[in-house]
Amino acid sequence: MAMQDDSSATRRPQIFHGGCHCGAVKFQVRVEQFEIIDCNCSICQKKGFLHLIVPPEQFELLQGAEALQTYRFNTGVAQHHFCGICGIAPFYRPRSHPQHYDVNARCLDDEPLEVLLQHFEVQPFDGRHWEQNIHQLTDQPPVEGHERLRES
Ligand SMILES: [Zn+2]
Repeated sequence: MAMQDDSSATRRPQIFHGGCHCGAVKFQVRVEQFEIIDCNCSICQKKGFLHLIVPPEQFELLQGAEALQTYRFNTGVAQHHFCGICGIAPFYRPRSHPQHYDVNARCLDDEPLEVLLQHFEVQPFDGRHWEQNIHQLTDQPPVEGHERLRES
């Protein structure tokens, strides 16, 4: 039996399915880059959010648009969606990539998290110091002379 190559650079694209806890919100996501960002900012730390960021054409909300509510804070750019029934936040629109979808890898249902994470490279991100570090995630230069904001 041939060994399957699971390295993130050579893996073929794969569809994953996920959702909230109560089942109202369901989505699928096509993963091409097997990279997860583990952010330590104020909200990600409390949510335990593990970021899988994909362009909009790779994300499809299958059901539950009407159940979603949105929390905004700080700059208000990020749309922190959550299920209005069970409170779980399976995906949102991040400040770093407002046109993209940011899926919480913990909310993918195809495999247990510890198995799922073996497919991905997990990169720590110091979101507590968002302005100094955001250029690591995007092509934007670091924001200079900005009000000392925390994070989104
Ligand atoms: Zn729910």
